[in-house]
Amino acid sequence: MRKERGLLIVLSGPSGVGKGTVRKELFSQPNTNYEYSISMTTRQPREGEVDGVDYFFKSREAFEALIEEGGLLEHAEFVGNYYGTPLTYVNETLDAGRDVFLEIEVQGAAQIREKAPDALFIFLAPPSISELRDRLVGRGTETEEVIAKRIATANEEVEMMNLYDYVVENDEVQNACERINAIIMAEHCRRERVEKRYLSMLKGE
Ligand code: 5GP
Repeated sequence: MRKERGLLIVLSGPSGVGKGTVRKELFSQPNTNYEYSISMTTRQPREGEVDGVDYFFKSREAFEALIEEGGLLEHAEFVGNYYGTPLTYVNETLDAGRDVFLEIEVQGAAQIREKAPDALFIFLAPPSISELRDRLVGRGTETEEVIAKRIATANEEVEMMNLYDYVVENDEVQNACERINAIIMAEHCRRERVEKRYLSMLKGE
């Protein structure tokens, strides 16, 4: 029997909502059985960030060459820097029957919606916009100008919720993680997915 292709899981949502924190928490849990796709970016590493662990840090030239070659599943320019998902890793991992987890901003998620409509789209929502601002200011790593840009972007992003299959409010990291894991589990049991597996089994594939 042919091995079932893995599920592509896309976690997205407004800047500052806590996508990175939720993703790190999900991957720190011992029973996580999906693979994280490390993104590429042209932004400078923050203190403590490691190349090949947090991101693959690239020059603009190298990133643009990769776009040209079609080496990215999606990419977006966000607050002056490129971010993108390496295509080969995603395809190879899915083909091996493993689920792949992406944590990306909303423009990239919209591109994947077009290219891979059977992916699972989860929108991480802020409890409120005012809390979003507090979190951005509280992080202390960005200038006022960057914060203002991120907030304007976030307003648009909230309107983009309708592209997603599920909305998880990030009221508390553990709760959000539990809901995300429950959604992934349920998604594997969806009739459409199970039916496809049974039909190919019956055809002797
Ligand atoms: P940061 O610079 O704070 O690490 O990330 C900025 C934004 O880029 C976050 O919203 C993060 O989710 C998003 N991001 C990280 N990797 C990717 C990627 O591969 N593609 C896209 N489109 N966004 C990404």
